[in-house]
Amino acid sequence: MVEVVKRQRKSPILTPSSIPCLQQLPTINITQGCALGCTYCYIQGYPGYPGPERVVLFENTATLVQEELKRKRRLPRRVYFSSSSDPFQFLPGVQEVTFQTMSVLLGAGVEVSFLTKGFVGDRFIRLFAKTPKRVFAQVGITTLNSELWKRFEPRTAPPQRRIELLRSLGDIGVQATARLDPLIPAVTDREENIGPLFECLGAANIRHAAASYLFLRPPFDTNVRDQLRSLGPADREPLRWQHQRFAEGCGGGRMIDNAERTTRFACLVELGEHFGIRLTPCRCKNPELGDTACQIAGPLTRTANARDSQQILDFVRQSRAD
Ligand code: SF4
Repeated sequence: MVEVVKRQRKSPILTPSSIPCLQQLPTINITQGCALGCTYCYIQGYPGYPGPERVVLFENTATLVQEELKRKRRLPRRVYFSSSSDPFQFLPGVQEVTFQTMSVLLGAGVEVSFLTKGFVGDRFIRLFAKTPKRVFAQVGITTLNSELWKRFEPRTAPPQRRIELLRSLGDIGVQATARLDPLIPAVTDREENIGPLFECLGAANIRHAAASYLFLRPPFDTNVRDQLRSLGPADREPLRWQHQRFAEGCGGGRMIDNAERTTRFACLVELGEHFGIRLTPCRCKNPELGDTACQIAGPLTRTANARDSQQILDFVRQSRAD
């Protein structure tokens, strides 16, 4: 049972994130903490993280946003939900505040982008259908396998429901992409896992997916490793994990090394091509791959010289040949 602590937010709300891909955009977190409880979630290491069974809900978010918009000379073009919580947690109070806040923004002509593994109900679909070109969605999904889903993302929406969400968003004209993040090397990036996922995404008319690999930090390292061990005898390939620096503003964590990751991305890009899906690695966690554009908040963040997936493939093929 997740405890919801209701609080009034006092500080300014439309403030940019430190994540490079989001620096141009104000970001909003409806809650502190996240009830979806993913085992690998990096917010477990954040100061003020309230624990897995507790979220702090900022009840006055919509009102604050409305007041800030009124005071601004120039409205932001787009607002991103949420860098460190899911805006569509199953909790009715969270759903309500998200609905009110997105309604205020869309009503003022401000675009809304979000990343979710949560529950996006019909009333949101009806809201987005009024101005679909102002909504940009990424839906996180790495597997269709229910055992892996329950182990690593126990309270998120079931994978099939997320596929249906992608389809519904596309049907109403929202630009929707999939986010394969975090992929677990030698577990969820295997062809037998990703192939069926790509097939389902393709059938739901998804043509673009972003991807990134699992990273570990002390607050959740043990938990993730326990879950991995419980999957059964390790028939997995030995992998070198080492501390990696991410892009400026994103810190770092233990991850499989650059060469290994690059090769694995290339296999995924090739597999995606087979299913008609363009796969782009996350730039912030893979700076060694150059200026890739995972479009975490929609196309606004794509820079002019961003590499596309074909360039990643060329880069890897060239490295193999050298
Ligand atoms: S949905 Fe996102 S923010 Fe929420 S627990 Fe999972 S990874 Fe963390």
